[in-house]
Amino acid sequence: MEEKISERARNIPFSSIREVFDKAAKLEKEGVDIVHMEIGRPDFDTPQHIKEAAITALKDGQVHYTANTGILELRKEIANKLKNDNHITVDPENGVVVTVGCKEAVLDVILAYVNEGDEVIIPDPGWLEYQYIVKIAGGVPVPVTLKEEEDFLMSPADIEAKITSKTKLLLINSPHNPTGSVLSKSHLEKIADIAIRHNLIVVSDEIYEKLIYDDAEHISIASLPNMSEHTIVINGFSKAYSMDGWRLGYVAGEATLINPIKKMHQYNTSSATSFAQYGGVAAYKDDQKAVCEMVKSFDDRRKLIISRLKEMPGVDCVGPKGAFYVFPSFKTLNYSSKELAVLLLEEAQIACVPGSAFGDGGEGYIRLAYSTSYENIEKAMDRLELFLREKTKYNY
Ligand code: PLP
Repeated sequence: MEEKISERARNIPFSSIREVFDKAAKLEKEGVDIVHMEIGRPDFDTPQHIKEAAITALKDGQVHYTANTGILELRKEIANKLKNDNHITVDPENGVVVTVGCKEAVLDVILAYVNEGDEVIIPDPGWLEYQYIVKIAGGVPVPVTLKEEEDFLMSPADIEAKITSKTKLLLINSPHNPTGSVLSKSHLEKIADIAIRHNLIVVSDEIYEKLIYDDAEHISIASLPNMSEHTIVINGFSKAYSMDGWRLGYVAGEATLINPIKKMHQYNTSSATSFAQYGGVAAYKDDQKAVCEMVKSFDDRRKLIISRLKEMPGVDCVGPKGAFYVFPSFKTLNYSSKELAVLLLEEAQIACVPGSAFGDGGEGYIRLAYSTSYENIEKAMDRLELFLREKTKYNY
């Protein structure tokens, strides 16, 4: 049967982070107290008013397929949100497709635009799904290495150097997983200039837009002059509204850009879950108090983790401005990121993700998600400090 498996499936590995997850689960079964910092999702419950909207929809019999592109009420809320928050104008009738999470949105966009051999520029390190989804579509992921000394911002010069006649899409993600970097307006303007000069489509994954700190500001590249005809925006509800299990996201842009994506979505999932979409309406329509509270809590944890990491000799850490990840470097230790992640689990009982799981550019780093309680972060940092004291020659 092995020989019957498609090349497509054969060429894609299971995620390399599974090894750490499986080991953590085994240790936990044995009664070991693990601090989980590997999970890329909020630790909060979905706000009550959003749950209630979905429950009401269920009670009202909203249990059937919806329009392929999603219920119009939600598409209208998405268009309003894009206008008010991001200064982007989209037509709710033709410019929005509600998807089963951002992940489906990325898959639909790539399938709609990438032919065999087409190149897609992606950040490295970056959300690991990008490269595999491009490969599933027969495309070639072209990584642009994000450098620590440039605060992990995707360098416009490095992007331009990777453009060939086969480049079709440029994928950007700000705020960024796994580094927490946020692209500034001037940076985005330079990327926009490249996209316009080379006639590229920018796919802008903005899932972490609400999780932003200090003086950082989220700007959608689609709002820059002449960029609406070059940009497909991807966003969703998983992170800002703690709705990752609801599986709700969307793509938005000019109707001509969105039209082919509709076909991929139609043959893929038909429509997002009916009652979840009503929850999405409540998330966008009602006040944003719950989001503000979650962001405040993430920010407190972010400050704690940065200050603790910065005190640890042998660790370098660019202060993240967005999302809920830190991406410290442990390059002074003589371990690969994978070895280090296993050691941290076994000897310090901290579950984290090796940076190399996000691409070659992540080697030497570890991703720690601070989407866990303040107390857990304190506990993890105490353990990490002890671990480093044993592993390094430094005196604390
Ligand atoms: N995009 C990025 C950059 C992510 O990190 C994630 C999830 O971790 C997603 C998209 C997936 O979002 P969703 O839960 O909406 O599928």
